[in-house]
Amino acid sequence: MDVVVIGAGVSGLAAARELVRAGRSVVVLEARDRIGGRVHTVHDPLTPVPIELGAEFVHGAHPVLWNLLRAAVVPVLELEGGGPDGMRAVFKAMAQEPEQSFGQFIDAFQAPEQVKQAVTGYIEGFNAASKDLVSIEWLLQEKRAADSIEGDRSFRVLSGYDSVPKFLSRGLDVRLSTPVREVRWTPGLVTVEADGQVFEAPRAIVTMPFAIPIDPEPASVAAGRAAIVTGSALRVTFRFAEAPGPELSFIHGDQPFPVWWTPHPVQTSVITGWAGGRKGDVLTGLEDDEIIRIALESLHGILGKDPGEPEAAFFHNWNRDPWSLGAYSYGRVNGAKARRYLAEPVDDTLFFAGETVCPEGHMGTVHGAMVSGIEAARRCL
Ligand SMILES: Cc1cc2nc3c(=O)[nH]c(=O)nc-3n(C[C@H](O)[C@H](O)[C@H](O)COP(=O)(O)OP(=O)(O)OC[C@H]3O[C@@H](n4cnc5c(N)ncnc54)[C@H](O)[C@@H]3O)c2cc1C
Repeated sequence: MDVVVIGAGVSGLAAARELVRAGRSVVVLEARDRIGGRVHTVHDPLTPVPIELGAEFVHGAHPVLWNLLRAAVVPVLELEGGGPDGMRAVFKAMAQEPEQSFGQFIDAFQAPEQVKQAVTGYIEGFNAASKDLVSIEWLLQEKRAADSIEGDRSFRVLSGYDSVPKFLSRGLDVRLSTPVREVRWTPGLVTVEADGQVFEAPRAIVTMPFAIPIDPEPASVAAGRAAIVTGSALRVTFRFAEAPGPELSFIHGDQPFPVWWTPHPVQTSVITGWAGGRKGDVLTGLEDDEIIRIALESLHGILGKDPGEPEAAFFHNWNRDPWSLGAYSYGRVNGAKARRYLAEPVDDTLFFAGETVCPEGHMGTVHGAMVSGIEAARRCL
């Protein structure tokens, strides 16, 4: 084949699709027994809406994702809600400051403690980031990218987010349950060892640059690993016999799972809790049952009444998943440029894609992952 693509998440599928459209022969190697990676929808017959274990929201209006949603003819619904008051002022002040961690910045920022806490909770939760590690330059770069695509608007794919990888994968040669153990390369030849199989091609696109051993490891990957953190985000979805609370888009509190939302305006008895950043870090090592119990207690606290026993709980711990090693990435202090050097091809042989690498700055998102895959494919071509 012309190109081996490693990983059948949206970045790998978008890359392979682009290459196949240009007439190249491509094989996609995927460790799991399904496509989609961190887009993972459960279609449970007893639950009236698709359950997302990974990505749920379409953030903004990036054309690569929206053109695909239109082509796939899937129903998409716009949602209400946004960041806390004071976000605009915080970003404006951040833009005047030298590079530092968000924690350092917010400590010195002049605002009522309540506002600082709300903004910190939002930044950490949304970015799956710890305030003491995440770089303000990285946050600003992501904000600028989001502003360019109406990133404050959010949508939900009513048929399930898995409509996206399903559409992308049409006609592709994807080998499931094929975990890659090592990538060896010299200029012009890549040898990929999966369990019991060897694949060779003049070029490869690697969508999980930090998770797959590469020999010799390119300097950009080593530098990227030091500059980027894959953050924690835990989400638990409960289905109750009856709606446990008011039909609100988003509810915020200070519990271990501080943010909750329902599929509003779709009326259901389903509710999802979210613990991202440091809140996620402290929970992520616990057993699944314990995490689910803590989520239920959080819901009790946030509603101010006992929601009763759920009929079902849906959860996936991405941090303990060997094929993701975390939820999604953010830049450490002085790490904001990592995505640029990772996006550079190595000897016209190795190409990197994945949400971490998005050359337009939409890291940690589905559209960002797609952009990274398309860009890697174009450079490859
Ligand atoms: C809980 C959660 C909520 C999120 N919410 C949103 C949201 O609301 N909106 C949004 O836009 N984004 C969201 N995201 C982020 C979004 O899901 C990701 O940015 C995007 O799906 C990443 O795509 P990717 O192709 O870069 O990586 P992945 O989807 O992780 O794909 C990489 C693939 O490589 C495979 N792989 C790994 N190692 C190997 C190996 N050794 N051999 C072979 N295959 C391998 C993996 O199994 C995986 O399928 C969320 C993510 C999580 C975890």
